[in-house]
Amino acid sequence: MHHLEKGEVDELHTAIDGELKDVEVQLRDHGHIKNERGEWEAQSKSEGEEPDHTDAADNIEELVTNVPLVQELSARHRALEDALVRMKDGTYGHCEVCGEEIPIERLRANPAARTCIKHAT
Ligand SMILES: [Zn+2]
Repeated sequence: MHHLEKGEVDELHTAIDGELKDVEVQLRDHGHIKNERGEWEAQSKSEGEEPDHTDAADNIEELVTNVPLVQELSARHRALEDALVRMKDGTYGHCEVCGEEIPIERLRANPAARTCIKHAT
């Protein structure tokens, strides 16, 4: 990652750490870890409490909202963790399609970016 200065890598690392904490707080709010691989699953807040009919309906409604949210959050969580791994092994900041350097502006906007702008999906 020669195109990135040490200070820039530190800055992006801090940004990733901050966002990871943020995403984890939100995940804990809407779900729980379902297995040892660290995958997350949505749950409603009142899950596990005494069931009653109104609650059950509320829970289902809450899950309908939480499931896609938790999916999105856990995908983001994985992307951020991947970015930290790439920082460690030195591949961070390069497009995984063409190997081109990813501009710092793009990394600042999304520190978990894996591709250059041309190869963004
Ligand atoms: Zn590319």
